[in-house]
Amino acid sequence: MPTLVFLEEHEGELVKGSLGVLSKAAQLGGDVAAVVAGSGVKELAPEAGRYGAAKVYVADDPALAAPLSQPRVDVLAGLVRAEGFDTVLFGSSVLSADVAAGLAARLGAGLNWDLVDLELRDGTLVGKRPALQDSVYVDVGWRGEPRLALVRSGTFEPVESGGEAAVEEVAVELEEFSTRAVMLERAHAESEGPSIEEADVIVAGGRGLGEPAKFALLEELAQALGGAVAATRAVVDAGWYPYATQVGQTGKTVAPKLYVACGISGAIQHKVGMQASGTIVAINKDPNAPIFEYADVSVVGDLHQIVPKLTELVKARG
Ligand SMILES: Cc1cc2nc3c(=O)[nH]c(=O)nc-3n(C[C@H](O)[C@H](O)[C@H](O)COP(=O)(O)OP(=O)(O)OC[C@H]3O[C@@H](n4cnc5c(N)ncnc54)[C@H](O)[C@@H]3O)c2cc1C
Repeated sequence: MPTLVFLEEHEGELVKGSLGVLSKAAQLGGDVAAVVAGSGVKELAPEAGRYGAAKVYVADDPALAAPLSQPRVDVLAGLVRAEGFDTVLFGSSVLSADVAAGLAARLGAGLNWDLVDLELRDGTLVGKRPALQDSVYVDVGWRGEPRLALVRSGTFEPVESGGEAAVEEVAVELEEFSTRAVMLERAHAESEGPSIEEADVIVAGGRGLGEPAKFALLEELAQALGGAVAATRAVVDAGWYPYATQVGQTGKTVAPKLYVACGISGAIQHKVGMQASGTIVAINKDPNAPIFEYADVSVVGDLHQIVPKLTELVKARG
Protein backbone atom coordinates (compact mmCIF):
# COMPACT_ATOMS: atom_id res chain seq x y z
CA MET A 1 0.00 0.00 0.00
CA PRO A 2 2.17 2.92 -1.17
CA THR A 3 0.97 5.83 0.92
CA LEU A 4 1.66 9.53 0.55
CA VAL A 5 1.15 11.87 3.52
CA PHE A 6 0.74 15.58 2.89
CA LEU A 7 2.82 17.47 5.42
CA GLU A 8 1.60 20.98 5.97
CA GLU A 9 4.14 23.66 6.74
CA HIS A 10 3.32 26.77 8.73
CA GLU A 11 5.83 29.50 9.48
CA GLY A 12 8.85 27.26 8.95
CA GLU A 13 7.54 24.27 10.92
CA LEU A 14 5.75 21.09 10.00
CA VAL A 15 2.24 21.13 11.43
CA LYS A 16 1.83 18.72 14.34
CA GLY A 17 -1.45 17.24 13.05
CA SER A 18 0.10 16.17 9.76
CA LEU A 19 3.08 14.60 11.57
CA GLY A 20 0.57 12.65 13.68
CA VAL A 21 -1.03 11.30 10.50
CA LEU A 22 2.42 10.38 9.19
CA SER A 23 3.18 8.45 12.40
CA LYS A 24 -0.10 6.58 12.06
CA ALA A 25 0.62 5.73 8.42
CA ALA A 26 4.06 4.41 9.40
CA GLN A 27 2.47 2.33 12.15
CA LEU A 28 0.09 0.76 9.61
CA GLY A 29 3.11 -0.28 7.57
CA GLY A 30 3.87 -0.44 3.87
CA ASP A 31 5.74 2.15 1.81
CA VAL A 32 5.15 5.49 3.43
CA ALA A 33 6.32 8.69 1.81
CA ALA A 34 5.62 12.31 2.67
CA VAL A 35 5.46 15.48 0.64
CA VAL A 36 6.28 19.00 1.78
CA ALA A 37 5.31 21.87 -0.51
CA GLY A 38 6.20 25.48 0.08
CA SER A 39 8.94 28.04 -0.29
CA GLY A 40 12.16 27.52 1.68
CA VAL A 41 10.94 24.19 3.06
CA LYS A 42 13.87 21.98 2.03
CA GLU A 43 15.39 21.84 5.49
CA LEU A 44 12.15 20.45 6.96
CA ALA A 45 12.44 17.18 5.05
CA PRO A 46 14.66 15.27 7.54
CA GLU A 47 12.08 15.81 10.28
CA ALA A 48 9.59 13.74 8.28
CA GLY A 49 12.04 10.84 8.40
CA ARG A 50 11.99 10.94 12.18
CA TYR A 51 8.22 10.45 12.13
CA GLY A 52 8.23 7.43 9.85
CA ALA A 53 8.54 8.54 6.22
CA ALA A 54 10.95 6.42 4.18
CA LYS A 55 11.02 9.08 1.49
CA VAL A 56 10.19 12.76 1.47
CA TYR A 57 9.33 14.63 -1.69
CA VAL A 58 10.14 18.31 -1.47
CA ALA A 59 8.46 20.83 -3.73
CA ASP A 60 10.31 24.02 -2.91
CA ASP A 61 9.40 26.96 -5.06
CA PRO A 62 8.56 30.65 -4.51
CA ALA A 63 5.31 29.97 -6.38
CA LEU A 64 4.27 27.86 -3.37
CA ALA A 65 4.98 30.57 -0.78
CA ALA A 66 1.34 31.53 -0.17
CA PRO A 67 -0.81 28.88 1.56
CA LEU A 68 -3.07 28.39 -1.45
CA SER A 69 -4.46 25.01 -2.38
CA GLN A 70 -4.40 24.66 -6.18
CA PRO A 71 -0.60 24.83 -6.66
CA ARG A 72 -0.29 22.13 -4.00
CA VAL A 73 -2.93 20.06 -5.78
CA ASP A 74 -0.72 20.28 -8.90
CA VAL A 75 2.26 18.92 -6.92
CA LEU A 76 0.29 16.08 -5.32
CA ALA A 77 -1.56 15.10 -8.50
CA GLY A 78 1.78 14.91 -10.33
CA LEU A 79 3.26 12.69 -7.62
CA VAL A 80 0.27 10.36 -7.45
CA ARG A 81 0.30 9.93 -11.23
CA ALA A 82 4.06 9.47 -11.49
CA GLU A 83 4.64 7.28 -8.42
CA GLY A 84 1.37 5.37 -8.29
CA PHE A 85 0.43 6.11 -4.68
CA ASP A 86 -2.82 4.37 -3.89
CA THR A 87 -3.48 6.24 -0.65
CA VAL A 88 -3.06 9.92 0.22
CA LEU A 89 -3.56 11.07 3.80
CA PHE A 90 -4.08 14.56 5.23
CA GLY A 91 -4.36 15.97 8.75
CA SER A 92 -7.29 18.33 8.88
CA SER A 93 -6.79 22.09 8.64
CA VAL A 94 -8.32 24.76 6.44
CA LEU A 95 -5.51 24.44 3.88
CA SER A 96 -5.25 20.63 3.96
CA ALA A 97 -9.02 20.21 3.62
CA ASP A 98 -8.93 22.45 0.58
CA VAL A 99 -5.98 20.56 -0.94
CA ALA A 100 -7.64 17.18 -0.26
CA ALA A 101 -10.91 18.29 -1.86
CA GLY A 102 -9.06 19.77 -4.84
CA LEU A 103 -7.04 16.58 -5.30
CA ALA A 104 -10.17 14.42 -5.13
CA ALA A 105 -11.76 16.53 -7.86
CA ARG A 106 -8.60 16.54 -9.99
CA LEU A 107 -8.10 12.75 -9.81
CA GLY A 108 -11.75 11.74 -9.67
CA ALA A 109 -10.89 10.01 -6.39
CA GLY A 110 -12.92 9.26 -3.28
CA LEU A 111 -12.27 11.34 -0.18
CA ASN A 112 -13.35 10.28 3.29
CA TRP A 113 -13.13 13.16 5.73
CA ASP A 114 -13.34 13.78 9.47
CA LEU A 115 -11.79 10.38 10.22
CA VAL A 116 -10.93 9.60 13.82
CA ASP A 117 -9.11 6.33 13.14
CA LEU A 118 -7.55 4.28 10.38
CA GLU A 119 -6.89 0.57 10.40
CA LEU A 120 -5.98 -2.25 8.06
CA ARG A 121 -8.56 -5.02 8.04
CA ASP A 122 -7.39 -8.08 6.12
CA GLY A 123 -5.09 -5.76 4.20
CA THR A 124 -7.85 -3.28 3.36
CA LEU A 125 -7.77 0.27 4.65
CA VAL A 126 -10.81 1.13 6.76
CA GLY A 127 -11.55 4.55 8.23
CA LYS A 128 -13.66 5.38 11.24
CA ARG A 129 -15.89 8.40 11.08
CA PRO A 130 -18.36 9.90 13.56
CA ALA A 131 -21.91 10.28 12.30
CA LEU A 132 -25.34 11.41 13.51
CA GLN A 133 -23.86 14.33 15.43
CA ASP A 134 -21.04 12.22 16.79
CA SER A 135 -23.38 9.80 18.54
CA VAL A 136 -22.16 6.76 16.52
CA TYR A 137 -19.04 5.74 14.63
CA VAL A 138 -19.23 4.25 11.17
CA ASP A 139 -16.63 2.33 9.19
CA VAL A 140 -15.91 3.88 5.82
CA GLY A 141 -14.01 2.57 2.82
CA TRP A 142 -13.18 3.50 -0.75
CA ARG A 143 -14.52 2.08 -4.00
CA GLY A 144 -11.38 2.85 -6.00
CA GLU A 145 -7.90 4.23 -5.90
CA PRO A 146 -6.32 6.47 -4.94
CA ARG A 147 -8.02 6.60 -1.56
CA LEU A 148 -7.94 10.05 -0.02
CA ALA A 149 -8.49 10.62 3.69
CA LEU A 150 -8.69 13.72 5.82
CA VAL A 151 -8.13 12.99 9.51
CA ARG A 152 -9.79 15.07 12.23
CA SER A 153 -7.32 17.40 13.92
CA GLY A 154 -5.76 16.16 17.15
CA THR A 155 -6.59 12.51 16.38
CA PHE A 156 -3.06 11.09 16.14
CA GLU A 157 -0.04 12.19 18.18
CA PRO A 158 3.25 12.43 16.32
CA VAL A 159 5.53 9.59 17.45
CA GLU A 160 9.26 9.77 16.75
CA SER A 161 10.51 6.53 15.32
CA GLY A 162 14.04 7.77 14.70
CA GLY A 163 14.24 6.89 11.03
CA GLU A 164 15.90 8.69 8.19
CA ALA A 165 14.20 9.59 4.95
CA ALA A 166 15.56 9.74 1.43
CA VAL A 167 14.87 13.23 0.12
CA GLU A 168 13.79 13.83 -3.45
CA GLU A 169 13.22 17.24 -4.93
CA VAL A 170 10.21 17.59 -7.16
CA ALA A 171 10.11 19.94 -10.13
CA VAL A 172 7.20 22.32 -9.63
CA GLU A 173 5.03 22.64 -12.71
CA LEU A 174 1.85 24.55 -12.17
CA GLU A 175 -1.30 24.56 -14.24
CA GLU A 176 -2.16 27.96 -15.62
CA PHE A 177 -5.49 27.97 -13.77
CA SER A 178 -3.77 27.14 -10.48
CA THR A 179 -1.94 30.45 -10.39
CA ARG A 180 -4.97 32.67 -10.85
CA ALA A 181 -5.71 33.00 -7.15
CA VAL A 182 -3.29 35.27 -5.33
CA MET A 183 -3.05 36.00 -1.65
CA LEU A 184 -3.36 39.72 -1.03
CA GLU A 185 -2.99 39.81 2.72
CA ARG A 186 -2.48 37.55 5.73
CA ALA A 187 -3.32 38.40 9.29
CA HIS A 188 -3.29 36.44 12.51
CA ALA A 189 -4.83 36.97 15.90
CA GLU A 190 -2.35 37.83 18.63
CA SER A 191 -2.59 35.66 21.70
CA GLU A 192 -0.39 34.89 24.64
CA GLY A 193 0.53 31.42 25.84
CA PRO A 194 0.05 28.08 24.06
CA SER A 195 -2.75 27.37 21.57
CA ILE A 196 -5.45 24.93 22.66
CA GLU A 197 -4.12 22.29 20.25
CA GLU A 198 -0.72 22.37 21.92
CA ALA A 199 -1.47 23.15 25.57
CA ASP A 200 -0.98 20.49 28.23
CA VAL A 201 -3.60 22.23 30.34
CA ILE A 202 -6.89 23.68 29.09
CA VAL A 203 -9.32 25.72 31.15
CA ALA A 204 -12.61 25.78 29.27
CA GLY A 205 -15.66 27.93 29.85
CA GLY A 206 -19.32 27.64 28.96
CA ARG A 207 -22.57 29.49 29.40
CA GLY A 208 -22.32 29.02 33.16
CA LEU A 209 -19.86 31.92 33.20
CA GLY A 210 -22.88 34.18 32.85
CA GLU A 211 -21.21 36.91 30.83
CA PRO A 212 -18.20 37.35 28.51
CA ALA A 213 -16.19 39.40 31.02
CA LYS A 214 -16.03 36.35 33.31
CA PHE A 215 -13.63 34.66 30.90
CA ALA A 216 -11.03 36.76 32.73
CA LEU A 217 -11.38 34.31 35.66
CA LEU A 218 -10.45 31.44 33.37
CA GLU A 219 -7.60 33.35 31.74
CA GLU A 220 -6.07 33.93 35.16
CA LEU A 221 -6.33 30.26 36.10
CA ALA A 222 -4.97 29.17 32.72
CA GLN A 223 -2.05 31.55 33.07
CA ALA A 224 -1.26 30.24 36.55
CA LEU A 225 -1.30 26.67 35.18
CA GLY A 226 0.64 27.56 32.01
CA GLY A 227 -2.34 26.53 29.92
CA ALA A 228 -4.79 27.85 27.34
CA VAL A 229 -8.45 28.88 27.47
CA ALA A 230 -11.10 27.09 25.42
CA ALA A 231 -14.84 27.55 25.02
CA THR A 232 -18.08 25.80 24.14
CA ARG A 233 -20.02 26.52 21.00
CA ALA A 234 -22.79 28.18 23.00
CA VAL A 235 -20.48 30.97 24.16
CA VAL A 236 -18.63 31.20 20.84
CA ASP A 237 -21.95 31.57 19.00
CA ALA A 238 -22.92 34.26 21.50
CA GLY A 239 -19.73 36.14 20.62
CA TRP A 240 -18.23 35.78 24.11
CA TYR A 241 -15.00 34.15 22.93
CA PRO A 242 -13.24 33.55 19.58
CA TYR A 243 -14.19 30.63 17.37
CA ALA A 244 -10.53 29.50 17.30
CA THR A 245 -11.00 28.35 20.90
CA GLN A 246 -14.14 26.26 20.33
CA VAL A 247 -13.84 22.64 21.37
CA GLY A 248 -16.18 20.00 20.00
CA GLN A 249 -17.82 18.54 16.96
CA THR A 250 -17.80 21.77 14.99
CA GLY A 251 -14.68 23.10 16.70
CA LYS A 252 -11.36 21.57 17.60
CA THR A 253 -10.47 18.18 19.04
CA VAL A 254 -8.03 18.48 21.92
CA ALA A 255 -6.26 16.03 24.20
CA PRO A 256 -4.47 17.95 26.96
CA LYS A 257 -3.19 16.27 30.12
CA LEU A 258 -5.67 18.31 32.17
CA TYR A 259 -9.04 19.75 31.05
CA VAL A 260 -10.85 21.98 33.53
CA ALA A 261 -14.44 22.51 32.39
CA CYS A 262 -16.14 25.47 34.07
CA GLY A 263 -19.87 26.05 33.67
CA ILE A 264 -20.11 23.53 30.84
CA SER A 265 -23.05 21.12 30.69
CA GLY A 266 -21.08 18.50 28.76
CA ALA A 267 -23.24 18.00 25.67
CA ILE A 268 -22.19 15.14 23.38
CA GLN A 269 -21.02 17.64 20.74
CA HIS A 270 -18.64 19.15 23.29
CA LYS A 271 -17.57 15.80 24.71
CA VAL A 272 -16.34 14.46 21.37
CA GLY A 273 -13.80 17.26 21.20
CA MET A 274 -12.25 16.74 24.65
CA GLN A 275 -12.96 13.19 25.83
CA ALA A 276 -9.39 12.09 25.09
CA SER A 277 -8.04 14.49 27.74
CA GLY A 278 -5.90 12.88 30.45
CA THR A 279 -7.81 14.14 33.49
CA ILE A 280 -11.13 15.97 33.23
CA VAL A 281 -12.12 18.25 36.10
CA ALA A 282 -15.66 19.64 35.91
CA ILE A 283 -17.03 22.54 37.93
CA ASN A 284 -20.80 22.87 37.63
CA LYS A 285 -23.51 23.98 40.04
CA ASP A 286 -25.93 21.32 38.76
CA PRO A 287 -25.14 17.91 40.28
CA ASN A 288 -27.01 16.28 37.39
CA ALA A 289 -25.00 17.97 34.65
CA PRO A 290 -24.06 15.37 31.97
CA ILE A 291 -20.39 16.32 32.22
CA PHE A 292 -20.19 14.62 35.61
CA GLU A 293 -20.87 11.30 33.87
CA TYR A 294 -17.41 11.40 32.30
CA ALA A 295 -15.40 13.79 34.50
CA ASP A 296 -12.58 12.30 36.60
CA VAL A 297 -13.01 14.97 39.28
CA SER A 298 -16.49 16.44 39.85
CA VAL A 299 -16.87 19.70 41.72
CA VAL A 300 -20.47 20.73 42.41
CA GLY A 301 -20.60 24.44 43.11
CA ASP A 302 -20.52 27.99 41.81
CA LEU A 303 -17.58 28.52 39.49
CA HIS A 304 -17.44 32.20 40.37
CA GLN A 305 -16.37 31.23 43.88
CA ILE A 306 -14.35 28.15 43.07
CA VAL A 307 -12.22 29.32 40.13
CA PRO A 308 -10.63 32.36 41.86
CA LYS A 309 -9.79 30.17 44.88
CA LEU A 310 -8.26 27.57 42.62
CA THR A 311 -6.14 30.25 40.92
CA GLU A 312 -5.00 31.52 44.32
CA LEU A 313 -3.99 28.01 45.39
CA VAL A 314 -2.11 27.32 42.15
CA LYS A 315 -0.28 30.63 42.44
CA ALA A 316 0.57 29.96 46.07
CA ARG A 317 2.20 26.67 45.10
CA GLY A 318 4.26 28.69 42.61
C1 LIG B 1 -24.62 20.01 15.05
C2 LIG B 1 -24.17 20.56 16.37
C3 LIG B 1 -22.82 20.82 16.55
C4 LIG B 1 -22.37 21.33 17.78
N1 LIG B 1 -21.03 21.54 17.96
C5 LIG B 1 -20.59 21.92 19.19
C6 LIG B 1 -19.20 22.08 19.46
O1 LIG B 1 -18.33 21.96 18.57
N2 LIG B 1 -18.83 22.43 20.70
C7 LIG B 1 -19.71 22.63 21.72
O2 LIG B 1 -19.29 22.96 22.83
N3 LIG B 1 -21.04 22.52 21.48
C8 LIG B 1 -21.49 22.18 20.26
N4 LIG B 1 -22.83 22.08 20.04
C9 LIG B 1 -23.75 22.61 21.07
C10 LIG B 1 -24.02 21.65 22.21
O3 LIG B 1 -25.09 20.82 21.88
C11 LIG B 1 -24.37 22.44 23.49
O4 LIG B 1 -25.49 23.25 23.22
C12 LIG B 1 -23.26 23.31 24.02
O5 LIG B 1 -22.06 22.57 24.14
C13 LIG B 1 -23.66 23.85 25.39
O6 LIG B 1 -22.70 24.78 25.82
P1 LIG B 1 -22.54 25.12 27.38
O7 LIG B 1 -22.15 23.88 28.10
O8 LIG B 1 -21.63 26.30 27.42
O9 LIG B 1 -23.97 25.66 27.78
P2 LIG B 1 -25.15 25.00 28.60
O10 LIG B 1 -25.55 23.71 28.03
O11 LIG B 1 -26.20 26.05 28.73
O12 LIG B 1 -24.53 24.68 30.02
C14 LIG B 1 -24.15 25.65 30.97
C15 LIG B 1 -23.81 24.91 32.25
O13 LIG B 1 -23.32 25.83 33.19
C16 LIG B 1 -23.78 25.44 34.47
N5 LIG B 1 -23.75 26.64 35.32
C17 LIG B 1 -24.55 27.74 35.29
N6 LIG B 1 -24.15 28.65 36.18
C18 LIG B 1 -23.08 28.11 36.83
C19 LIG B 1 -22.22 28.58 37.87
N7 LIG B 1 -22.38 29.79 38.42
N8 LIG B 1 -21.23 27.78 38.30
C20 LIG B 1 -21.04 26.53 37.75
N9 LIG B 1 -21.81 26.04 36.74
C21 LIG B 1 -22.82 26.84 36.30
C22 LIG B 1 -25.17 24.91 34.24
O14 LIG B 1 -25.55 24.03 35.29
C23 LIG B 1 -25.01 24.21 32.89
O15 LIG B 1 -24.69 22.83 33.09
C24 LIG B 1 -23.31 21.60 18.81
C25 LIG B 1 -24.66 21.33 18.61
C26 LIG B 1 -25.09 20.83 17.41
C27 LIG B 1 -26.54 20.54 17.23
